[in-house]
Amino acid sequence: MRLVLIGPPGAGKGTQAAILSQRLGIPHISTGDLFREHVTRQTPLGQDAKRYLDTGELVPDHVTGGMVRQRLAEPDARCGFLLDGFPRTVPQARELAAILDCAGAALDAVVEFTAPEDIVVERLLNRGRPDDTEDVIRHRQRVYERQTAPLLDHYADILLTVQAVGPIDEIAGRALSGLSEAARGPAPHPRRAP
Ligand code: ADP
Repeated sequence: MRLVLIGPPGAGKGTQAAILSQRLGIPHISTGDLFREHVTRQTPLGQDAKRYLDTGELVPDHVTGGMVRQRLAEPDARCGFLLDGFPRTVPQARELAAILDCAGAALDAVVEFTAPEDIVVERLLNRGRPDDTEDVIRHRQRVYERQTAPLLDHYADILLTVQAVGPIDEIAGRALSGLSEAARGPAPHPRRAP
């Protein structure tokens, strides 16, 4: 299965991605994690990306796209993957479509996790990553609304929306049952997880 997770920072995508990837047997590919690994290893890409991560801006599309293209070419991602944090812009979605087209593949579903802004900001303040200061967090929310939310329309045909408030296992359960329902056949639009 080829999946993309979308949601504002703090919606719990990373947590859900870990559960879904295990349950579905597909690799979890997080662009945020990939960037942070590059920063830690001080690679040229990491040095380039660091200032964007620190301020909550998006890393330029060509840098991100190249990194994802390389990761998707690895053997474990051939039959399926769960992308967390990519695409984050419409041009990135086009790039992903081009990468998949070349391999004769396509996305099966895009899962959107939603939660009210005050809840997500509080979760991130508690997480305490270096880029989790209130200013940077609020800025990432604005970047999400401006640059990433347009993807919801772009993917309207394969979008599954999941409310991401409540116990972690219940949220994962909603996503998994929404996905198996979607796999059974065409659903009324927009799809909603039960
Ligand atoms: P969060 O979900 O809390 O925003 P991530 O770990 O997904 O955290 O991303 C952290 C940072 O990594 C982003 O603020 C951005 O600078 C960079 N980043 C991650 N994915 C992308 C992407 N697809 N395009 C550009 N920048 C990205």
